[in-house]
Amino acid sequence: MVLDVPAENQATPLDAAYGAGDRDRLRGTIEPDAVSIELVSAFSGDRGLAAAERVRIGQLQDARGTAFYSDLLYVISHQYFAPEIASEIWNRVLAHKLAMSTQLGRNVRVTVATLDYLSNITGEIRSLTLMSEDDVATIVNLSMRDGMTGLFNHSTCYELLELEFRNHRRYGIGVALIVLDVDDFKAVNDRYGHQEGDRILLALAGRLRTETRDSDVCCRFGGEEFAVILPFTNDAREAAEIAERIRLGSETISCHGQPITVSAGVALCDDATPTPRSLVESADRALYQAKNRGKNRVVVSDGQR
Ligand code: GH3
Ligand code: MG
Ligand code: MG
Repeated sequence: MVLDVPAENQATPLDAAYGAGDRDRLRGTIEPDAVSIELVSAFSGDRGLAAAERVRIGQLQDARGTAFYSDLLYVISHQYFAPEIASEIWNRVLAHKLAMSTQLGRNVRVTVATLDYLSNITGEIRSLTLMSEDDVATIVNLSMRDGMTGLFNHSTCYELLELEFRNHRRYGIGVALIVLDVDDFKAVNDRYGHQEGDRILLALAGRLRTETRDSDVCCRFGGEEFAVILPFTNDAREAAEIAERIRLGSETISCHGQPITVSAGVALCDDATPTPRSLVESADRALYQAKNRGKNRVVVSDGQR
């Protein structure tokens, strides 16, 4: 756990772990009504509150009632305290912060005071572990990525798709999905071994990165299947062009003199798309058609061509 409140604009573990695009996307996964650590810190008196923060806190208090104090404590300690007791604990934490600050002759931040109060005074937190921001970044990064290719893994793919889906619903920002599957990959493994298969998967991950835009999200969906989330895409043809670029790029990867080929299915999120999962299903159906029509091709979901 990182004890101190990062100052505004100071690097956080996420900054260290991701490029700007990924970082912003992950920041975006925080619900707009969530309480930030900076806000908790300012609210506790670590620093003065800006006018906008004052308004925001008023809104949060109105919306959450006494659960607001559960939120404050959760942001700092990742422990849930029921609303009935959270405001009392918060007041005690503030008193503890004041006592520590007086004793030490300097401002003790609310994060430090809360963790000291909950671990040394009430015993609520028993096994506090300090970890460097670099270590936190490494762990977060490992948990989100596929170990072999470094692309986002299956569960992160769904999380990010969920986020883009919400952006589509709330703000009308377009999102499309490409799913890709290597053609006759089993034969590659059977003929040349798994190591050769792995080399091809790695090379393909590289092609995905080079053929897509910075804003696109490349994922290893599983096995020899990949997914690319295309935010800010309102046109299925635009998504199909990117899929086609990837398909052509894949042919530059050669396996014992033979070009590798991939099939791709493309689907665009529209008002008739009920869930992120249904977007995946549409793209999967298009991929299935691509396979049935002879592989090495891109098919756009029915009605979106
Ligand atoms: P199709 O053109 O219909 O997609 O045929 P395919 O042979 O590619 O499809 P199938 O699903 O039968 O085979 C996929 C193979 O991918 C089977 C599996 O052993 C292999 N595979 C999955 N993950 C990995 C991996 O990480 N490394 C290697 N080398 N092979 C993998
Ligand atoms: Mg497959
Ligand atoms: Mg395959």
